[in-house]
Amino acid sequence: MIAGDRCTRACGFCAVATAKPLALEADEPARVAEATRRMRLKHVVITAVARDDLKDGGADHFAKTIEKVRELNPDIIIEVLVPDFNDSDASIETVLAANPHIYNHNLETVRRLTPEVRHRATYERSLRVLGKVKEKRGEAIYTKSGLMLGLGETTAELLQAMRDLRAVNCDILTLGQYLQPTLRHLPVKEFISPDQFAEYKVAAEEMGFVHVASGPMVRSSYHADEFKM
Ligand code: SF4
Repeated sequence: MIAGDRCTRACGFCAVATAKPLALEADEPARVAEATRRMRLKHVVITAVARDDLKDGGADHFAKTIEKVRELNPDIIIEVLVPDFNDSDASIETVLAANPHIYNHNLETVRRLTPEVRHRATYERSLRVLGKVKEKRGEAIYTKSGLMLGLGETTAELLQAMRDLRAVNCDILTLGQYLQPTLRHLPVKEFISPDQFAEYKVAAEEMGFVHVASGPMVRSSYHADEFKM
């Protein structure tokens, strides 16, 4: 996770601290690249807090990190898990110009629950961002998104969210169980059974996702390298 540990947003499910962020560290891209090299990673997922305090939302910092990682690890698969950059075309372009292999942006939950789960994001904006990436790069990039289950969504709402993702040509889907990080965060409304997760995986594959990870322990980066490009 780059760009600090203080987020400008306060999503109801997330344990990252909300506070005024510190300045970006100019040598962080190089340090991440070196850590990636030392760990001999074949697949790296680079994510960040939301940096709404920065004009570009931190997009240039993402791009620099991608470039440095590739410089030291030429064969690595680079996945970015990015904020919505407030739907800024310029910021999305900045990240895309660094040529990540996978552009991941999480929808997190169904349309109805989005206002209470992601206070400063919108369902439509996230879909728009994912759609734009495919419009700009087509098959040259994979898009990916994920939802947490157990927040009170219905099966019909979840299936609709999956269809909405396919409507913007999202390629890869992750579905996992939401767990409450502290008592101050949103409660778990339901524990989804492994069988139910398996059924959702089948439904997602039938909708056309090229890769689906679905299970109680699945998170955005869960076995990310199992997707063979
Ligand atoms: S934007 Fe990301 S890091 Fe910030 S609170 Fe929401 S989920 Fe957590």
